[in-house]
Amino acid sequence: MTMLRAETRIALPDPAAVLRPLCEHLREHEAEVGEVDGVTTIGLDGSRAELRTVAGALVAVVEASDLAGLQGMKLAVASHVVEFAPQGFAPTIRWSGDGAEPMLPPDFRVLMVTTAEQLTPHMRRIRFRGEDLARYDTLEALHVRLFIPPPGLPEPAWPMIGADGLLQTPPPEQRPAIRKYTIREIDVAAGTLAIDFVLHDDAGPGSAFAARVQVGDRIGMAGPGGRGLKQAARYLFLADETGLPALARMLGHLPAGATGLALVEIADAAERQPLVLPSGVSLRWLHRDGAAPGSTSLLTDALATLDWPAGEGSLYLWAACEHTAFREIRAAARQSLRPEIDAHLVVSYWRAGISEEQHAAEKKAA
Ligand SMILES: Cc1cc2nc3c(=O)[nH]c(=O)nc-3n(C[C@H](O)[C@H](O)[C@H](O)COP(=O)(O)OP(=O)(O)OC[C@H]3O[C@@H](n4cnc5c(N)ncnc54)[C@H](O)[C@@H]3O)c2cc1C
Repeated sequence: MTMLRAETRIALPDPAAVLRPLCEHLREHEAEVGEVDGVTTIGLDGSRAELRTVAGALVAVVEASDLAGLQGMKLAVASHVVEFAPQGFAPTIRWSGDGAEPMLPPDFRVLMVTTAEQLTPHMRRIRFRGEDLARYDTLEALHVRLFIPPPGLPEPAWPMIGADGLLQTPPPEQRPAIRKYTIREIDVAAGTLAIDFVLHDDAGPGSAFAARVQVGDRIGMAGPGGRGLKQAARYLFLADETGLPALARMLGHLPAGATGLALVEIADAAERQPLVLPSGVSLRWLHRDGAAPGSTSLLTDALATLDWPAGEGSLYLWAACEHTAFREIRAAARQSLRPEIDAHLVVSYWRAGISEEQHAAEKKAA
């Protein structure tokens, strides 16, 4: 296998004082850190780095089998050198070798809108065309971060990896808003994918983009991320409209013999959509019927009246919904599931009254 390779020499007043915490930090993030003949070796996600200190500098050589791995390792080294450099000292970093020119991050694609279809009154399916989509075609990681440029910008600006290996974000007035969405359908050969957007009140950049979208508009996409479909004897799915695209994609890929139950909270009967699912999985729509999204206990009430598993096979509980319901479902799962054989993934997809940025900051602080 041909390996890609890049190197840099970073002038530092005391390189050993930067290398030490850098290694400790990467070790905490599951990197394999070792030392051979005075050279520090780091293995991370299939890529490798060799770091050595010389008089007044840290020399780094990184290798990986693909550009994504190479840029990931360059970023890991460069960002931690900046982090652990002495206060007031800004290291100058310039990589030579493969991937040295400024470029879009390897997990980033620019997508162009090809169609927009109103699936239901509050759900809009937008189809995009993009290049080289193979990495996004996986049930292991269903979600992406969308980079939505401010409206009216003649030429969108995207985050770029600079010659220093660090991510350069566009200036604030051109900076895209970042929102998490789910790939609902993907066709790598055709270079297309579809994302279902909830159109909601108090629209932020995500919902507003979906409402105003025009054929030819461009957005950025990075990922994929999150956890995907698990193998289990039986399934219990709970979702509101925001979790419905992920649920629908998983249901469509369950083995034909799968059994279980899917509970989906929606505004009313007009929001129902046809779903492909195995005959052993039943689907129950729960209508808010006039109540605001995120204000009801429909999902948790339905869960409370279910028979939880006894001696049968393993159960996988998957839930994606508004924050309040998420907390209650997670608490119920922790009480009622059998940790030795059951598994669960319960995620808050949005929080009523606050934007995605605030919601993400709260999750991080929790
Ligand atoms: C892993 C993951 C995958 C997701 N996949 C999808 C998907 O495929 N499709 C999808 O539509 N959403 C999805 N979401 C949810 C979506 O990211 C949030 O709803 C996000 O807040 C929408 O961004 P916005 O810019 O429209 O609103 P924001 O700027 O984030 O928020 C503005 C206001 O709108 C409110 N708000 C946000 N979402 C809703 C809503 N659904 N209903 C009512 N009010 C709301 C907020 O509370 C806030 O008051 C996903 C979230 C996660 C974490």
